This record gives sequence, C-alpha cells and structure tokens, in this order.
Amino acid sequence: AAKNAGRDQFCLHTQALDEAIQAAQDTRTMLEHALHENRLLLHYQPMVSGTGTLLGVEALIRLHHPERGLLPPAAFFTSLDHLSLARPIGRFVLDAALRQGSLWQKQGLSLRISVNISTRHLLDARFLDDLKEVLSRYPDLPPSQVEIEITESAPLADISGAQMLLHACNDLGVRVALDDFGTGNASLSYLQQLPAQSIKIDRSFVRDILNDPKDLAIVAAVITASHMLGLEVIAEGVETTAHATLLAKMGCGQLQGYLFSKPLVPEDIPAWKHHFPPGSQWEENLPSMGV
Ligand code: C2E
Ligand code: MG
Ligand code: MG
Ligand code: MG
Repeated sequence: AAKNAGRDQFCLHTQALDEAIQAAQDTRTMLEHALHENRLLLHYQPMVSGTGTLLGVEALIRLHHPERGLLPPAAFFTSLDHLSLARPIGRFVLDAALRQGSLWQKQGLSLRISVNISTRHLLDARFLDDLKEVLSRYPDLPPSQVEIEITESAPLADISGAQMLLHACNDLGVRVALDDFGTGNASLSYLQQLPAQSIKIDRSFVRDILNDPKDLAIVAAVITASHMLGLEVIAEGVETTAHATLLAKMGCGQLQGYLFSKPLVPEDIPAWKHHFPPGSQWEENLPSMGV
C-alpha cells in the first residue's frame, strides 16, 4: 500500500509539474502575441520631491489582454520562460519610454524617465548597442534625463561585467538606479561596487517604518549611507502622509507611491499635480515616533 501511495504521489507531482509547464507556456504565448500585436504599453508613475514636486516618472509595463483587460507585470512576467523575450521586450520598453520622454520634452515638460531593465537584457552583449540606438533615435531627450533601474533582487552573476556595463551607461550620460534596494542579499556590496547615482528603497521596508523599529532603523541607515556615498535616495511604496512625513524628516529626498499617484496613462502626466500644497499638511501628520 505504501508503494502504491508513493506511486500516486509521484503521479500527482508530475501532473502538477505538467500543469505548471503548460501555464508557463500559455503565459509566454500570451506575452509573445501581445508584443507582436502591439498590446504592450507603458504607464507612468510620478516620483516627487519632499514637497510634492514632480521630478520624474517610472515607466511600468502593462499588457492589454483582449478578454482580461489591462494586466500588470506579475500576470505575465511569471516564469523563466519569458527570458528569451527579455531583449525584444526590453527594446520595446526603452523605445516607448524614450519616445514619450522626448515628446514631453518637446512640449516643454522636462522629466526624468526611469526604465526598468531586466538583468537578462542588461547582461546581453547587445544591451549597450540597444541603449545607444534608442538614445540616438530621440535626440530631443537629453541622456542625463534617462535612468535605468537595475533590480537588486536578482543576483548579478558577473559583477565585473555589470560594473563595466554600468560605467559605459554613465559615459553615455544615462543614470543608474538600484531598484528594490534591500531585498537581495548583496545590497551593501552592490552599493560599493556598482556605479549608481540613486537607490530605491524597496516597498517592503517602507511599509512598516511606522510600527517596526527595525525597519525604521534599516531605512534610516540606508538614507544615511546614501548621503555619505553621494547617492540620491528614493522611497518606493509611499502610501500614507505619515510615511511621507517621516521619510522626508529622515532626509529622503524623493518619494514614489500611491499617496502621490498610481501609475498613469501618459496623457495624464502633463496635467498631474500633487494635491497637497507644497510642504504643508505633512508636518501635522507626523506620528510620535521620537524622530
Ligand atoms: P518596481 O520597479 O519596483 O516598480 C514598482 C511597483 O510598485 C509597480 O508595480 C508599482 O505599480 C507598484 N507601486 C507603486 N507605488 C505603490 C504603492 O504605494 N503601493 C503598492 N502596493 N505598490 C506600489 P508594477 O507596475 O506591477 O510592476 C511590478 C514590477 O515589475 C516592477 O517593480 C518591476 O520590477 C517590473 N516591471 C515593471 N515594468 C517593467 C518593464 O518595463 N521592464 C521590466 N524588465 N520590468 C518591469
Ligand atoms: Mg522599478
Ligand atoms: Mg522597485
Ligand atoms: Mg519593488
């Protein structure tokens, strides 16, 4: 009986595996079709200064599904199978984001455009050429207003390769931000080794700063370290005025999150204004944290 039970279990496992493989293939097919049918698009989330001024936007990919509507990346960047699509999708995103940035620039709206780059595309031998090509396509947008976000949660197998590559990006005038900072296991060594201009503190740390003294300590330490290293620091996932106030008090110069805005269609960016009068109400909402 034990033997049979074992066999049943084995069957269940292979069935589950088959289903997982099938689901991964379906996702990949969905993504491939969306790419070829022009159903991938970008939304843009404002990044603001401590007083609510619009500094730049982060481009965030969405997939328009004929039946399911607009899907977030979690619904289609799900498995390793999308990796062979990393470069075509990366090129699409770079092109669309810089085209939009250039359009805004020509309309007199000068914004920093941040683009998420997958580690897979970053470490592709053709990445630098892809970046140069798209920059030359949009000469109205100064490269200094382009930022690439490198996620710190995915390990960079080839750190010296990444170092050289990011230096080359800097040489083009492009800024480098370390995204999801704190979630990987190489955070501090990356800070030391990678040429970045900015770090983005991951939402998972920001979320609990009001009630978890350890998270508060980590965020405070990251802000201090960033300043000492001459880096800009931005907090992700800022959802309440209490968070914003505390972060601003701690010297975090840039903020991003639903408190200010969800990711928006590009048409909504030019008219976007933070609804708080600069620097006002936050003070009153400062929680008694002894900071
Ligand atoms: P990310 O780069 O860390 O982007 C921030 C994510 O947090 C976005 O989710 C954004 O909508 C969400 N977010 C912003 N503010 C808040 C907030 O206050 N609360 C909460 N709960 N969430 C907030 P999204 O758009 O679903 O993107 C998820 C991830 O997918 C991104 O994380 C990024 O790693 C990846 N991604 C998005 N677009 C691209 C892309 O064009 N290329 C690549 N390679 N990755 C992308
Ligand atoms: Mg990002
Ligand atoms: Mg992030
Ligand atoms: Mg994140």
